[in-house]
Amino acid sequence: APRMRFAPSPTGSLHVGGARTALYNWLTAKKGQLDFPNENGAFVLRVEDTDLARSTKESEESVLADLRWLGLNWDEGPDVDGAEFGPYRQSERNEIYGKLANKLLEEGKAYRCFCTKEELEEMKAKQEAEGVPTRYDGTWRDADPELVQQKLDEGAEFTVRFKVPEGARVVIEDAVRGNVAWDAESTVGDFILLRSSGVPVYNFCVAVDDAAMGITTVVRAEEHLTNTLRQGLILDALGAPRPRYAHCSLILGEDKQKLSKRHGATSCNQFRLEGFLPDAMINYLALLGWNDGTDNEIFTRDELIDAFDVDRVVKSPSIFDMSKLKWINSQHLKMMTVEEVQPLVKEQFEFLEMFKEGADAEKIDEFATAATTLAKQMMETTRDAATNAETVLKYNLAESFDMLAEGEAKEMIKNGNFYPIAMTLIEAAEAGTLPLPDSNDPLAAFLDENKKAIVEDNQTGGDAYSFPEAYKAYMKQLAKEKKVKGKNLFHPVRLALTGEMSGQDVTKQLALLSLATSDNSVIDQEK
Ligand code: GLU
Repeated sequence: APRMRFAPSPTGSLHVGGARTALYNWLTAKKGQLDFPNENGAFVLRVEDTDLARSTKESEESVLADLRWLGLNWDEGPDVDGAEFGPYRQSERNEIYGKLANKLLEEGKAYRCFCTKEELEEMKAKQEAEGVPTRYDGTWRDADPELVQQKLDEGAEFTVRFKVPEGARVVIEDAVRGNVAWDAESTVGDFILLRSSGVPVYNFCVAVDDAAMGITTVVRAEEHLTNTLRQGLILDALGAPRPRYAHCSLILGEDKQKLSKRHGATSCNQFRLEGFLPDAMINYLALLGWNDGTDNEIFTRDELIDAFDVDRVVKSPSIFDMSKLKWINSQHLKMMTVEEVQPLVKEQFEFLEMFKEGADAEKIDEFATAATTLAKQMMETTRDAATNAETVLKYNLAESFDMLAEGEAKEMIKNGNFYPIAMTLIEAAEAGTLPLPDSNDPLAAFLDENKKAIVEDNQTGGDAYSFPEAYKAYMKQLAKEKKVKGKNLFHPVRLALTGEMSGQDVTKQLALLSLATSDNSVIDQEK
């Protein structure tokens, strides 16, 4: 069974690229565990904190929290011991790196280099002047052992360099990129494994760890492809089998530039704050560079585990498409019940600090349920349910009537906000069939009366949802009176009632409004 690893450097938060890498590794590991339950397949989390200056504890914690949020649980990692394989932070593995460096020294696969900084700079300058590639020239590669001993006795500083074998080649069959080959000698000089401070270099740590942790397949970003040469050479020298590799292509923004903050949310934490579901995130991330060979785009977690195959990861870069992510999120929301979505909507209200301090928990639940019910079929994110509720609450009935009475529908067209309804309004107005409420209109009066009734109803523990019944009855009456029906009736009335035309269920919106305006409302009206 595959032993997979995700190896984040804790120098920032988890971004979509890293999350995708983690996901592909996780999916492969989970599938392996299902297929071979008796073998010790695993998803290993290894923290690559060798860059002490840039690594922080906060970053590590936030990356782990984001992985947990995505549900990419690990079988071994800093907080889950895999007995023989740990520790799982590179900063805690120095003893292991030191031992293996010594082993390579003893076997003549590495050597000590006593070149000073000045000597190395001189070497580089000379090579530059000659127009040849700048790389270590092997000064200490075959040094006289006595000279080495003499330097050691003097206490001279040294680095441990890898002895690139003559004629060495590294050839990999990359699951994404196909055959990739390097001619080692013409590509790298004898590179450093341990710095003079004894601190191991990054590629040495990765190779040692992949070997020591029994990693069978490495799925990682394309930017690490060139590291495979050095890592491959080290693994060969250690006598360890090379893992299989899959180097995934970049994720680009819609402008085909490397995805960055300019493109909006890129860190997982932001997606959580903005109301995306972990299941939708992993569904979308899986599709960023992979498909199952069909048109299928909606996958549950289990379906992904079953269908994912690293050999089907595409080589071309992927474009991060926010509207597609939103669509996938909306599809996952539709698969959930109101009860399942409600806590997430409540969390959004909390992020937006919309509740009164110390508001009654039961009332909060009731309100969150009303907001969820209202937005359920329409929302793309759970944030939508909260902002939608906010819109409903901020909307002022009287202002809306005024706006329509002053004939500002054309303005709305210009704004592009209410295009469909504005068209309907104008057409209806031109045809003389517009059931616009004016100041004496029975609709306004009706709403006023009923709002009061609902508030009272609420206060006496009644059912807020009785209002929609009254609303339906009113609409029936209005249709008869004005001789209009269908959208010519519903659109203008909806606009008049709610100030927007997004197709929300008006009756549910009114229910929410009545809850929010009741005396024991949980909503902080100041906000
Ligand atoms: N620590 C590296 C990173 O965060 C990953 C290295 C690897 O996967 O080999 O980019």
